[in-house]
Amino acid sequence: MGKITKVWLDESENECISCGACEATIEEVFEVPDKMIILKDAEKYFESNDEEIRDAAEGCPVDTIGIAEDGADERVN
Ligand code: SF4
Repeated sequence: MGKITKVWLDESENECISCGACEATIEEVFEVPDKMIILKDAEKYFESNDEEIRDAAEGCPVDTIGIAEDGADERVN
């Protein structure tokens, strides 16, 4: 497993349903004012909160959280 370097809202297949689960898992990275957004300083937490970020992505009911590793752009999850 690589180092998380990018997290984004990936609506290529489904739309975020604004359930708030990602924010509840790690509020330093995700906020859901309407649809999910990645907070401005989120990158600071990519290393220290790697597990929570992956848990949030896995727990997203519509699979709209993309994770990329090691500076690449392609989604690994
Ligand atoms: S968990 Fe998924 S569907 Fe729910 S708010 Fe976050 S990105 Fe949207």
